[in-house]
Amino acid sequence: MKRNPVQDHTREMMERGRLARDGFLGDDMRPIDEIVAADAAALAAAGVTRENLADLLDELHAAADAALETPRELFGGKVQVQLIEVMGRIPCPFGCGERAHKAAIRVKAGDLTFVFTPLQAHLIREHGFFQGEGSWFRLEPAELIALYRLCRG
Ligand SMILES: [Zn+2]
Repeated sequence: MKRNPVQDHTREMMERGRLARDGFLGDDMRPIDEIVAADAAALAAAGVTRENLADLLDELHAAADAALETPRELFGGKVQVQLIEVMGRIPCPFGCGERAHKAAIRVKAGDLTFVFTPLQAHLIREHGFFQGEGSWFRLEPAELIALYRLCRG
């Protein structure tokens, strides 16, 4: 396997305890570009872009933020969002200069419940990165695609 110094550095920043207690990779041993490529293929197969998903996450974040930690219903009650904590900022592990708010937004939509952070919307939009398999904060493209279809369908 070819060594890639930039990816080596990014991988280091994604380790547990560097920028985030649980890290960004879980137990995923694949190179970051392989993780990104596999998730990009899932999006392409569904005909959804990473901007579609990031825009939706930003919209859910803005709505949760405006509701000041009170649960808020959106899309005719199909989706409920709630801001559950805010504490400082976290830099993007890809080193692009982004420093995202460390908020966590809880989303409930039918059987689907998950938590996302503003950094994740950035990672998806700018880096196509949904995080490694087994990472606590990995967003499964299939779940986001289902949510996207529920909200925009
Ligand atoms: Zn970035």
